[in-house]
Amino acid sequence: MHEATVAQFILEAISAEAKKQKARPIAAKISCGVFNAINTETLKFAFEAISIDTVCENLKLNIEQKPIKAKCKKCHATFEFDLHESKCPKCRHDDFELLPDAPLLLEEITFEDK
Ligand SMILES: [Zn+2]
Repeated sequence: MHEATVAQFILEAISAEAKKQKARPIAAKISCGVFNAINTETLKFAFEAISIDTVCENLKLNIEQKPIKAKCKKCHATFEFDLHESKCPKCRHDDFELLPDAPLLLEEITFEDK
């Protein structure tokens, strides 16, 4: 299962950082592209399951899905791709290419105050 692998990756990354900071992580924010095919609910569930008895137990996971970006072939403007308005917002041209989806990123970790 894809989400389980991702959850494991996040848990390890947060645990390593917690060890470095010598603090207990209470929340973390991750982001990924909308086409990354990660089910956020499944991911949260998988994370909760594997974080029991680790430093990350009860950590609040926030997952932000980033919109996909597109680049206009005419004026080369980059913009957020919108399914309902598939035109370049700058020149109204409708010939553009989609840019690669945003990778999965661990954006920030919130630690408990000592
Ligand atoms: Zn354009």
